Amino acid sequence: MKPAEPAALGSNFVAMGNQDVDDAVTALLRVADQRYTAGRRRLVAALQQGEGPLTITQIVSADASLAQSSVYRNLTLLEDAGAVTRIVTNDEFARYELAEELTEHHHHMICTRCGDVLDFELDARTEEALHLGLERAAKATGFTTTDHRLDLIGFCATCASGGISQP
Ligand SMILES: [Zn+2]
Ligand SMILES: [Zn+2]
Ligand SMILES: [Zn+2]
Repeated sequence: MKPAEPAALGSNFVAMGNQDVDDAVTALLRVADQRYTAGRRRLVAALQQGEGPLTITQIVSADASLAQSSVYRNLTLLEDAGAVTRIVTNDEFARYELAEELTEHHHHMICTRCGDVLDFELDARTEEALHLGLERAAKATGFTTTDHRLDLIGFCATCASGGISQP
């Protein structure tokens, strides 16, 4: 018998449009007793437009109307509300992206040299095989899986070829 697969692990669900994301963030903030202010909207928009997780410096340079101090505060608040995920790398710059619930399930390639983080998706068949393998490992310890995160650690193309990439 095939075990039921948690909905969050499907790799084929459709990415939300801007309005849907705004509605979802509004709902998450409401639960956290917070309002979706203009500044928070702009912040979410900047994250949506980013090609991958962004540092605070990258967010501020993407939208000059955002002040670094309020960006930091709002990112923490959005993270607590479950709308934003913080990606931890081994450099001092945390990177932020919209939570998978608002975007799509994916994985990261983290460059240990320049700290760059790239988003990537596996094809449905590979994701399914990965999921089954992880489920087997989890079941062996009685662990119940609701989601998985898997990051590749190594060097980005620029760093691997000896160049210097700016994070
Ligand atoms: Zn790199
Ligand atoms: Zn990502
Ligand atoms: Zn996955």
